[in-house]
Amino acid sequence: MRLRQVIKRPQTELRHENPYQLLVAVMLSAQCTDARVNQVTPALFAAFPTVEALAAAEPEDVLPYIRSVSYPNSKARHLVAAARRIRDEFGGAVPSSLKALESLPGVGPKTARVVASVAFGVAALPVDTHVYRVAHRIGLVRRARTPREVERRLKRQLPSHVWGEAHHLLILHGRYTCTARQPRCAQCVLTDLCDHYRRLQRLPAPLTGLDPRQGRYFCKRCRRYFDTPVYRTDRLEVEQVSCLNCGSLQVFDAKTGCSTRRVPDYRVR
Ligand code: SF4
Repeated sequence: MRLRQVIKRPQTELRHENPYQLLVAVMLSAQCTDARVNQVTPALFAAFPTVEALAAAEPEDVLPYIRSVSYPNSKARHLVAAARRIRDEFGGAVPSSLKALESLPGVGPKTARVVASVAFGVAALPVDTHVYRVAHRIGLVRRARTPREVERRLKRQLPSHVWGEAHHLLILHGRYTCTARQPRCAQCVLTDLCDHYRRLQRLPAPLTGLDPRQGRYFCKRCRRYFDTPVYRTDRLEVEQVSCLNCGSLQVFDAKTGCSTRRVPDYRVR
């Protein structure tokens, strides 16, 4: 994998020292950034250093430590409930199997896979929003509807001993280079392999000399201005602005001169 050359440490960025801390950090990271989680966990782990300490607490005791992460109330409830389950059913040790991890309150398939893979070396390839987006953009998978589908297809292409590494490489590539809003293609080592990059290169160049007073859009084919577009879904299932008069997709924003053509992008729905 070419990403290995540029991402020297394909590891989780969630700071942790043991499986308990990793589980807590991953649970907190749902719908939240790793950087934010890393800000709150030092004080949280100091106050509740073990599964037993967290299990003995009430959610209201935990809440002040995690108030700045997303969904703090439900996460506080889930953390305490998960710790109690680990204490009562697993002897106080975070379980290593996916099935046991998924049985914990607040632990879904993705969290279970991250913990199992990172803490216990279980072969897993969790798909989060970054993995989902990057895998589609590069073209490793095409039109997969769900993260589980992306996971299945990636696993078919890769030997199991690199699944964990692939997960981290794709996450870190998505976090720092192939970002959601503005991928940094100029700094990317994958341009020659990437479907998304190829599509971006094929977009029509901007037109100059358009007059926005004549209309919001300009159709290059019939050379007319218009204000109200009709929308057409192209073969890649992207809704495109099309010309009111001739139906062409060769439409440009009269103010900026830029083509209105959009390339498909990929968000977990
Ligand atoms: S070339 Fe651009 S779109 Fe493709 S993987 Fe690299 S950053 Fe992402």
